[in-house]
Amino acid sequence: MLVTITCRGPEASDLSYLLHKNPSKINTFDLKFGRAVVFYPVVSAETVTCAMMLDIDPLFLAKEKGQKTASQSVRQSGLFDYISDRPYASTSFLSVALARVFNTAKGGRCSERPEAVDRELDLTAQVFCLPCEHDDKPFQFFEPLGYEVSLQRRKSDGFLDFLGANPYVNLTIRGRVVLSKMIQHLYILIPVFGGRKHYFVGDDEVDKLLRLGGDWLKTHPFRDEISSLYLSRFRYLTALALERLEDGEAGATEEVERSAKANLRPRLSKERLEVILHELRLSGARSVLDLGCGEGRLLLRMANEKMFERIIGLDISTSALKKAEERLFKAFKGHPSNLTLIQGALTYADSRLKGFDAAVCQEVVEHLDAWRLPIFQRVLFEYIRPKTVILTTPNVEYNVRFPSLTENKLRHEDHRFEFSRAEFAQWATKAAESYGYAVRVSDLGESDARSGRPTQMGVFSLCG
Ligand code: SAH
Repeated sequence: MLVTITCRGPEASDLSYLLHKNPSKINTFDLKFGRAVVFYPVVSAETVTCAMMLDIDPLFLAKEKGQKTASQSVRQSGLFDYISDRPYASTSFLSVALARVFNTAKGGRCSERPEAVDRELDLTAQVFCLPCEHDDKPFQFFEPLGYEVSLQRRKSDGFLDFLGANPYVNLTIRGRVVLSKMIQHLYILIPVFGGRKHYFVGDDEVDKLLRLGGDWLKTHPFRDEISSLYLSRFRYLTALALERLEDGEAGATEEVERSAKANLRPRLSKERLEVILHELRLSGARSVLDLGCGEGRLLLRMANEKMFERIIGLDISTSALKKAEERLFKAFKGHPSNLTLIQGALTYADSRLKGFDAAVCQEVVEHLDAWRLPIFQRVLFEYIRPKTVILTTPNVEYNVRFPSLTENKLRHEDHRFEFSRAEFAQWATKAAESYGYAVRVSDLGESDARSGRPTQMGVFSLCG
């Protein structure tokens, strides 16, 4: 990828000082994911252009795959490594490289020309090969910050027409701005165009967004969309960032964070837990399997109730089981004696799972490849065959209610599919019929007239 920054006018020579890069040299920076080369293609009294060319190491991308980052699910493999456009259009890498290479300029420090640090200069930035499918987005995002925006989208030469419209543009923004601000704008807004980030998006990303975007993002008309895209559509983090911006940020307190956390995602998962526990109590189950128990939220609640005498939590993921173990250990100051955690897969007939009254499968089936569903059904309803099965899964129709989920996106990176209401009802009825169960299908969460509720649930009871 290539970015250039040009300064025009009598202050043109300020640029190299502010960027801390010598115009007579080619500067090379080794980065974890490749190499950045900084050079000056134009140096004249009136115009100075600095270019940063980022060369992403495709081997790094291939190696990175094994580590399951937020950007690449482990499912993407094989050919993907070789046909990926990421070495050429990886906006999050570009943004990180920009920050790394121009760190001092981004922070607005310059000992040699301190007076130029806060000076508004006639600056133009060009970003080449920016993934951008909608022409209006760059205008919406950069114009409110005082830039003139222009785009160039190359027409395909006909040969690759079957690939559809060219998804890349060359972007030019020009304005009288302070250089450090322009770098900050690019740093936040370039990855907004690029889908997933290459590193895991965590709470520290929110901090970064607020630190760099705090003053201008707060009043930006597309603030919500930018925050959401920047945070890779991680809904909880977006809401957290927005709440902190509303709050005047800088001194966002832990309390704000806590209340943001409490108000979001947890509301639905809490309701789900209560409904599941209610169904379990109704069923009279004394022994319960939590299949795909994850980090053990339901296990914790069940272990607190005397009526559940024997509990097994099963999950395929060792890290989820470790977290469940820690959570239980902390709450009970030791391991609850009626509870066992085991590692296993829902697609294997595992004799340890036999002889239980009830099985819960909370938000798990959607993590299985659709073609494995028949195997899962057999294991659950034919082999384990508990008296009661409580199964919850997202209602895909409700996804339109999540503004940050773009069209056809599922709710979680690892979801292989999500059922519509009709599909779930059909699947549950057929499974019940095939294995001699009766099923009651319902839904929970906030209701929407058109899309229903976010979660659907099937309660299966063994007949006879
Ligand atoms: N039931 C928990 C966790 C849901 S997340 C809750 O609602 O909080 C889905 C969980 O299913 C993850 O922990 C994942 O590791 C687990 N999982 C996915 N595929 C699985 C499989 N084939 N066998 C067992 N567990 C699986």
